[in-house]
Amino acid sequence: MIRIRRPSTVPNPLVTNGRQRRDEHIADHATGKTDFTFDRDVYGHADVKIALRTAQHDKCAFCESKVSHVAFGDVEHFRPKAAFRRQHGEALTSPAYFWLAYDWTNLLFACEPCNRRHKGNLFPLVDETARARSAADDVTRENPVFIDPASEDPTVHIGFREEFAYAIGGSVRADATVHALGLDRPELVERRRERLQAIRLLRLAARTLKRKRDQASKALAREIETELTHATDDSAEYAAMIRCAEQASP
Ligand SMILES: [Zn+2]
Repeated sequence: MIRIRRPSTVPNPLVTNGRQRRDEHIADHATGKTDFTFDRDVYGHADVKIALRTAQHDKCAFCESKVSHVAFGDVEHFRPKAAFRRQHGEALTSPAYFWLAYDWTNLLFACEPCNRRHKGNLFPLVDETARARSAADDVTRENPVFIDPASEDPTVHIGFREEFAYAIGGSVRADATVHALGLDRPELVERRRERLQAIRLLRLAARTLKRKRDQASKALAREIETELTHATDDSAEYAAMIRCAEQASP
């Protein structure tokens, strides 16, 4: 997981229809309604999804897998819109953060396994007494357990030993994030292992080729080194893991 920066310009569907829907939900809530019909055509509008996907380099906000070549990807609500639970097995509480259903600061682009299979409606807080339950409450008073890559730097909390994610300094929030989001799921770990192995082999090849005397080998070494400089770009898959590996053995 790496830091995500959304564009400062809010996509138009959220500004126009989104505000209107939000006001309708708030008015309904004032009458005692707790069950809302959310308009996917607004928060999931192509303009919203493309803006998030572009800002995130087509990577899932949580697991850093490239998404669009194998799946559509989801516009995910960091704070669940309809209902939430604090832990697996607990009954759902509704409503959840209905007034943030179309809020730009609450949206991320995520892969389906992270969003649907793992995070789902889970949204625990460090201090449950601070939980916002209506639009009148201040969500900035909340301290979510899960790390929001759009509001803080996840690499301060989550590191990698080889292909395995771990909580830096035993951080409880990082540990909960890794486990709840399935960042240690076997399929993902295997994919990261393959990526790490490929990078290491390329690095070894570059070092070996540089020692050769012929120009063709030296040129190929430079080409590989250029390729390797992009392995830690924000746009690269599993950049957080590669950065940790480079720090461990530069
Ligand atoms: Zn994911």
